[in-house]
Formats: sequence, C-alpha cells, structure tokens
Amino acid sequence: MRTEKLYINGEWKDSATGETFQVLNPADGSLVGKMAAAGKEEVLQAIAGAEQAKEEWANLPAQVRASYMKKWHQLLLENEETIARTMTTEQGKPLAEALGEVRAAASFVEWYAEEAKRVYGETIPASSSRKRIMVLKQPVGVTAAITPWNFPASMVTRKISPAIAAGCPVILKPAEQTPFCAVEIIKLAHKAGIPKGVISLLAGPPEIIGDTLLEDSRVRKITFTGSTDVGKMLMKKSADTVKHISLELGGHAPYIVFDDANLDKAVNELMGAKIRNCGQVCIATNRLYVQESIEKAFVQKLSQEFSNIKMGSGFEEGIQMGPLIDGKAYQKVQEHVEDALSKGAKLITGGEGFHKGDHDQAGYYYKPTILVDVTADMKIMKEETFGPVLPIQRFTTEEEALRLANNSQFGLASYVFTESLSRGIRVSEKLEYGIVGLNDGGPATVQAPFGGFKESGLGREGGHFGIESFLEIKYVSIGIK
Ligand code: NAP
Repeated sequence: MRTEKLYINGEWKDSATGETFQVLNPADGSLVGKMAAAGKEEVLQAIAGAEQAKEEWANLPAQVRASYMKKWHQLLLENEETIARTMTTEQGKPLAEALGEVRAAASFVEWYAEEAKRVYGETIPASSSRKRIMVLKQPVGVTAAITPWNFPASMVTRKISPAIAAGCPVILKPAEQTPFCAVEIIKLAHKAGIPKGVISLLAGPPEIIGDTLLEDSRVRKITFTGSTDVGKMLMKKSADTVKHISLELGGHAPYIVFDDANLDKAVNELMGAKIRNCGQVCIATNRLYVQESIEKAFVQKLSQEFSNIKMGSGFEEGIQMGPLIDGKAYQKVQEHVEDALSKGAKLITGGEGFHKGDHDQAGYYYKPTILVDVTADMKIMKEETFGPVLPIQRFTTEEEALRLANNSQFGLASYVFTESLSRGIRVSEKLEYGIVGLNDGGPATVQAPFGGFKESGLGREGGHFGIESFLEIKYVSIGIK
C-alpha cells in the first residue's frame, strides 16, 4: 500500500494536521493507498510559493522554460508503464487505454514546450506619425488547476503545460479518486528540475482547497475540468476577485448516422466513442440518432459488437472495458436505464451490472447496454449518463436530426456519419457543438482546440489556442519625437 504526500514549494510534505484520505481500486474496492489531505494552511503555503516563483519563471527566456518541459516530456515517456499501471489501479481503465492516455498526456508537455516560443505580440500602425503601438502578451499569473478522475494524466498536463509554458505557476488539485497519477507526473516534473513553486500539488477536501484558492486575490486564473454543476459554482465564486476562468465541463454528445453512411465505419468508430473508459468520457456518445431506413441493420450490427465486449479488471489480458469509477456512478447508470425502460424504451442488450469485492463504494461493473424506442423526455436523453449505455432514437429527415441533436443545454462534442460531402458540411456547420467528428469517432488530439458551446464550458484547450487563456494582453502606446 502506498502513502503519498503533497508537493508544495519544491518539497514533498504531509499536511500539518496529519490528515489523509483513502484511494480505492475501482476494480474490486481494495485499498490502493493513502494520500495526504491538504488543509487551508497548505493551500496558503502553495499560493505563497507560487507567488514567489512567479517573476523569475516568467522572466526566463521561453527557450529555457521549454528546455525544462522537454526534459519532463522525456521522463514521462521513459516512465509511461509505471504511470499507466498507477492509472489502471486507481481509475480502472484497461492498461492499453491507460498507456495511450499517458502518451497523450506527454504530448501536451511537448506541444506546449514548443508553443512557449511562439507567444507573439504585435505592432499596429498608429494614426499619428509621432506614435507607435506595441501589443505584448504576458502571463496571467498564479493559476489554480482542478482536474477530474476520468483522465487523471492527460487533464493534468493539458492544464499545467500551457500554463507553465506561458510563464504562470500552477497549483494543481486532482480528483480525490485519482491523486496518485498526478503524484507520479509531478514527481517527474520535480526530477526534470522545474524550479520550486512553479508547480504544486494539493489533494484533499475540495471545498476547503477550492474556496481558499478562489478567495485569494493572488490567484489570477482558475482552469477547471469537471461537471457543469461544480463549474458553475466555481464561476460564481471567482467573481469576487474577477479571476480569469476556463471551464471544460460536461457533455451529452449526439451521434447521427444517416442512411448514406458507411455502416461498418459508423459502428467501429462508435465502439471507441461509447465504450472507451467505460463510457466515462465527456465526449462519449450519449444519444444515437439513426435514420429510419437503416435502424434495424445498424442496431443488429451494433448489438453483436456490444455483446462481445470483454469486461473485467483493466489488468486482465484482452479486456476492452473496466469497472465504473464507484458505486455512485453505478447508481446513476442504473437509474437512467430504469427511467428509460419505465417510459417505454426497449432493451436490446445489457441492462444489468454486477459487483466484485467487499467494499460498497467500489467494484461496480455495468454491461454494455443498448436501448431503442427512446424518447426525448427520458433522463438518459437529457443528462450525462457517464456509463456504457447507448440510447437510440430514429429520425426521418436531416432537419429533424439536427433539431434533436441541438436540443440540449450541452454543446461539447457531436458526431455525424454520412458519405455525402455536402450533407456532412451542412450538418457540421449547423451543429451547436465545439467539436464535430465528421465520420470520426475520436476527434480529441493535442494540436486541435478542445472545448464546448453552451453549458459545456468556456475557452479552449489544445493547439495554439490553449496557451492564449494563460496570457494577458498589454498595449503599450509609445510617443516618439
Ligand atoms: P466533479 O465532481 O465536478 O469533480 C471535478 C473536480 O472538481 C475534482 O477534482 C473535484 O474534487 C473538484 N471539486 C468538486 N467540488 C469542488 C468544490 N466545491 N470546489 C473545488 N473543487 C471541487 O467532476 P468529476 O465527476 O470528477 O468528472 C466528471 C465530469 O467531468 C463529467 O461531467 C465530464 O463530462 C467532465 N469532463 C469534462 C471534460 C472536458 O474537457 N470538457 C473532460 C473530462 C471530464 P474531488 O474529486 O475531491 O471531489
């Protein structure tokens, strides 16, 4: 059993109160280890350390910041197996998926090491020959980053990398279910020689850590990935000190399959878009809309694939789907399925789960499930399920598909399958979503902007877009003789 500490101002330490919290293995509820729990005192220490490191870090030439990050990137790749194993142990996803995520996590560090060098300002022609206009981009300052459990490595580096590349120190608070991945990643940042105070790691009670960070005017930016409810609350609490805020929140992705789609491709891509990470993905397909004339063929193909999925502990050979994160997640999935069945949906496959181990909070599995004859009034068509359940609704026309797909307060990812270029472009342009996968079930990648419309968030992470939200724009008006 492991015991890990907080990382504050370049040192690994316990909290002053000595408090810890337990981390469970979602595959069977066994105890993975104990993590030190930060209190207000540790949060204030981390803020002070970041504030102290701020100027020197920001003043380093971008090439020097990049060189630390490149070393960190290299260390992440050298240690990918260890981090992936930690991830499967505390998060549950199959080991191959965990390894893929660690590589994606490393790619953010590499990308932003390069991007650090391209923070360009501008000069603008003035309206007087005795003036010059110069625009500078400067780091926003101390940043708080709060991350979820579903991608415990890539969400950490997707936030820390652009921040430190821009010159901002970061205080990270990972999710309580998955602090050890963050610990592994930050240990390597320390080994790479990133100076003290530039990155801190605080785990523990979210309200105490969150409120202390939000109330402090030295913290100039908050970047959050998680649920829409918590995101809204953080947004409200940031108002008093007018912090910069980036929010990557929940989704409810529609997946539209037209009758002119390549059905095999639509089914194959859907396996990733629905089954990856046991459906616990913000861009996972939550609602499938299939054109009437192909519904039967499509459902038949899909149910064969779903019934063949191998489910179990992420360490077992050939496993495609692991457990749900905890008992609460299981209850939500079950509630959505029961609600749909009670309102007239028909079960094609799945519809039940099982429990392993003795712990009532973890060890929960749910079979890949397909529901047909669903209607818009069912919970599953309105709320994020975060599990391996696929509700299918048929449609007749393109207009109807668009109306159904856009009927959501969420606007993160959407998917369209059609072999018609014109229809593909038409529908992509009309979908009210930050991300459209056109004949593509896996659009997330380091170089592209990731983020949502509506209540799915504010701002974008990834690509050259991702560094902008860590930069202030300063205009210098110069009078000359
Ligand atoms: P969550 O409950 O909102 O938690 C996310 C993070 O916020 C955790 O670190 C959590 O800490 C922290 N938190 C909770 N209450 C807080 C408070 N009062 N003050 C400060 N921090 C607080 O979400 P989750 O269940 O971990 O993650 C799943 C959600 O994330 C889904 O809705 C999913 O769609 C979304 N997500 C979005 C994206 C995207 O890019 N848009 C990517 C991945 C996931 P504790 O763990 O300690 O409670």
